[in-house]
Amino acid sequence: MASSTTTKPPVYVTMSALDAGHLTLPENLFVTDADPTKRATVPSLSFLIQHPSPPSSRPGNSTTTTTNLLFDLGIKRDLTSYAPAQAAHIAQRHPIIVDPDCAASLRNGTTENPQAADSAPLLDPSTEINLILLSHVHWDHVGTPSDFPSATFLVGSGTLSLLRHGAGPLYPADTFNSDEIPASRTVEFPPVSRPDGVYASSEPRHTPSPASARENLPPAAGGWGWQSLAGFPNALDLFGDGSVWVADAPGHLYGHVNLLCRTGPGRWVYLGGDCCHDPRILRGEKGFALYDDGKGGKRSVHVHTGVAKDTLDRIGEFVKMRGLEKGEEGDGEVQVEVVVAHDAEWREGNRHRFWPGRM
Ligand SMILES: [Zn+2]
Repeated sequence: MASSTTTKPPVYVTMSALDAGHLTLPENLFVTDADPTKRATVPSLSFLIQHPSPPSSRPGNSTTTTTNLLFDLGIKRDLTSYAPAQAAHIAQRHPIIVDPDCAASLRNGTTENPQAADSAPLLDPSTEINLILLSHVHWDHVGTPSDFPSATFLVGSGTLSLLRHGAGPLYPADTFNSDEIPASRTVEFPPVSRPDGVYASSEPRHTPSPASARENLPPAAGGWGWQSLAGFPNALDLFGDGSVWVADAPGHLYGHVNLLCRTGPGRWVYLGGDCCHDPRILRGEKGFALYDDGKGGKRSVHVHTGVAKDTLDRIGEFVKMRGLEKGEEGDGEVQVEVVVAHDAEWREGNRHRFWPGRM
């Protein structure tokens, strides 16, 4: 019999990876001690996270018992839709594969197990995706937002200002489409308070969201705030039940966030976005490459290399600690799997975990 001291049973989500395009990265821009001639064609992964709750307040969805959340949208299927100033950068990332994109993967499942052409879509991007969380708004993560006219977009603080006004010499405004994501359906997470420093002082300003944009958020959104979680100084409980945590992951681009998802007893998946671009960096075998910034200095692919390293260290510590659920699930093993957006090895070894398969 339930008593007042009984804690609520843990809530789990189901996750599936999605192919959302590929691009080609020259290794020497990304990892230390690289072969200067080596280039690798890698995925830009999206993920579907299904939470066992009815989507909030949208009429017509009352019979649905699952909230469908996407993490990242990958590459646009129409490469001409990027900001013209991006063309030179994107030209250096070929070969680029745009088929299937995120929407096609949702409809049809993996290319290994395609739906028959005349069968109903597995998931309809235009009506069945409730929330889209972008780890950040680099071109290879924003995908085609217009494919998702009923979704609410969630982004890190400062992202809308970054899209409209740019930020600093590395990111002039013309790098982005100012209307890349619909402001009327976009909610920025609360601003993060950081120690004073170069990073904090250069972060774009927070944009408060209109009430209309908040209509379809999970009920827990009213209480959204950052709290410390297992070594992460700033984590946010997305659904208010501990199943999905947004982790502030500064350093790569302003507004960069990661997602920590509980998929079963003692089983967590950490979606690392672009915290690094190569699994060898996660394993400590390589570091971030530094290259000439054209102004007599060095830079990396991250907007602030030191802050990005701190974020990576925190993720590494978190994986080692495996301590998130101590006391909650007895002495059972706790596993944390970290998956970054451009991990070609992970994609090859985990095809069975692509939609409609599960992670
Ligand atoms: Zn990026």
